[in-house]
Amino acid sequence: MPQDLSPSDRRAGRRTFLKYAGGIAAGMAPLVVAQAQGQASGGPARVDFPPDHAQSEAPEKMPEPSLPPSERIGYAVVGLGRLTVGRLLPALAKCKYSRLTALVSGDRAKAQKLAQQYGLSEQSIYDYRSFDRIADNPDVQVVYIVLPNSMHAEFTIRAARAGKHVLCEKPMANSVAECRQMIEACQQARKKLMIAYRSQYEPLARSLLKMARENRLGQLKEFISANSQNMGDPGQWRLKKALAGGGPLPDVGIYCINAARFLSGEEPVEVLGSMRNNPADPRFKEVEESVQFTLRFPSGFSATCSSGYNSHKSQFLRLQGTLGWAELDPGYAYEGNRLRYGLLENGREVIHEPSIAASDQFMLEIDHMSQCVRQDRQPHTPGEEGLQDQRIIEAIYASAQAGRVIRLDTPGNTRGPEPQQEP
Ligand code: NAD
Repeated sequence: MPQDLSPSDRRAGRRTFLKYAGGIAAGMAPLVVAQAQGQASGGPARVDFPPDHAQSEAPEKMPEPSLPPSERIGYAVVGLGRLTVGRLLPALAKCKYSRLTALVSGDRAKAQKLAQQYGLSEQSIYDYRSFDRIADNPDVQVVYIVLPNSMHAEFTIRAARAGKHVLCEKPMANSVAECRQMIEACQQARKKLMIAYRSQYEPLARSLLKMARENRLGQLKEFISANSQNMGDPGQWRLKKALAGGGPLPDVGIYCINAARFLSGEEPVEVLGSMRNNPADPRFKEVEESVQFTLRFPSGFSATCSSGYNSHKSQFLRLQGTLGWAELDPGYAYEGNRLRYGLLENGREVIHEPSIAASDQFMLEIDHMSQCVRQDRQPHTPGEEGLQDQRIIEAIYASAQAGRVIRLDTPGNTRGPEPQQEP
């Protein structure tokens, strides 16, 4: 039974099965019974089937029902670049609780093509100037911001003022000050703000988190991770400081920072960074080429990480405890992540590679936001989570420039309740 459903949804599902079972007992033909109780209780209608396998077989698992499209939470996606076109629009089309209802772009022809592909009308297309008119569109409840980093704060604040909840891509913004303004704007408007940390919704990372919480690796001691890629076109916005806020650190190094924090459940108290600048390379005239950093946590746990724009794609993380190790390699990919762990068993090191059903992490993340809106819950990765990563990013840069350790205050809790995903 999924955890996403309210108790009344679960009761409705049970009622359906009993209704079906009653029909069989009365000699009815074995028809599938679609029930309406779920809808009456505010949950999606479900279709149940009777068991048709012997008890020796694992029960067949049916997917959770989707909400009818008209009841799903509507999203306006702002910025129609690679992530939106390649991942987010396809993910939205697969969501159970979410749907695409508007597009915001500076390129009307591109927006028209995508609107046609995803079944939206011309009236659902906005540009950056007319964006504020979205306030009058009741089909949009959430604005998903997928623009260059320097534009996240402006569009979060405008979306909140238009009365919309906000899902914002990482990094949250280019400075701690902007992150604070975004949180305040959403609080003032009484709207939710979630930062799109997809890894925190990804099934393999969640499985690793569970292992860590159950102390299966013993006391956690070290986290070692790299997230690097080799950049091409020197003209792209990621290599412009004003638009990107920095180089590989806020773009890909942020995954290492965030994973060290959520897997350990701790916050760093000391940061040591070092950075390589290489202005002779036309790609690195404004931003660094690579950053290495160490984070120290109160329990003695440490994270040693590297992020670069100058080496072939490498996206791994490894967690080492007193009793075992576990790694995701790749660990930050869109798909194809792989979990392995090693433990001493009966005096022998045994390496496991569990098979965990793949699921689209973007879909899980977006549906989590929708469930938070529907059930008035705080998102698991709210603005405070993005603010804390930005504080650490600024401390790493400051440490690299000053050539010394920078101490950090620990924040209060930066996360909302755990996502209630289908297992
Ligand atoms: P992109 O360059 O492919 O797309 C950016 C979009 O913003 C384009 O549609 C572009 O036209 C528009 N734009 C508006 N003003 C612009 C300007 N002044 N300069 C450049 N583009 C401008 O970028 P992307 O890869 O889609 O990244 C967008 C955001 O999503 C970034 O914040 C990035 O960090 C984030 N991102 C997250 C993930 C993830 O896995 N969560 C992956 C990729 C990107």
